Amino acid sequence: MDFAWTPHRFSGGALALDVANSVVLRFDASRSIDRFADRAQMDGFAVAAASFSAERALFGALAPVEVGHRAGFLALREAIDGYFRFRIRSGGDDEASSARLADLLEAAAAILRVGVKASLEAQTAHSALRLLSGEALERMKICGHCGWLFIDKSRNRSRLWCDMAVCGNRVKASRHYRRSRGGSVADGAVEGGVAETGAAKGGAAEGGAAEGGAERRG
Ligand SMILES: [Zn+2]
Repeated sequence: MDFAWTPHRFSGGALALDVANSVVLRFDASRSIDRFADRAQMDGFAVAAASFSAERALFGALAPVEVGHRAGFLALREAIDGYFRFRIRSGGDDEASSARLADLLEAAAAILRVGVKASLEAQTAHSALRLLSGEALERMKICGHCGWLFIDKSRNRSRLWCDMAVCGNRVKASRHYRRSRGGSVADGAVEGGVAETGAAKGGAAEGGAAEGGAERRG
């Protein structure tokens, strides 16, 4: 299978988000792909993270996830995505967010009890905990195209895409194409990028293109 952990796949801005983004097209169950379902790809992620993760200076080389810790690691990944994605949508001031936060803390604690510090699983837990405090939490967004979680580090917090070079250009290209064929209301929804529905609408048709684009970049 022609797949590589390219820099694009570390667009989240934090290890925990890159791990959550190992499931692509989460909003489209029929086309969603779990890159960690393949053990070799999960191990490859640990190697690539040391080169491409925005947080690489904090951890350096990472040991791959031990066989016995794999289920806990995947539970942590889902808890990370579940909490942060929900919080972005809801604002985080409700009981449902608190329950998801508790799930995340429990999953992180379970990993930290067993994982060695320099392992992918332990460092993913540390990364998730770092995200809970500080500005990153307020800058966290959902890519209006592919649905990945990312931290908007731009000065004016105006980023709509996890990666302008991939998702931004895909949306621009499809918008141009639609305009040249008479325009469409759906474009606005995708361009706005704020609502997940925008990603679901435009992204369902084009998410594969983003994924394909990522492959080609590798
Ligand atoms: Zn994206």
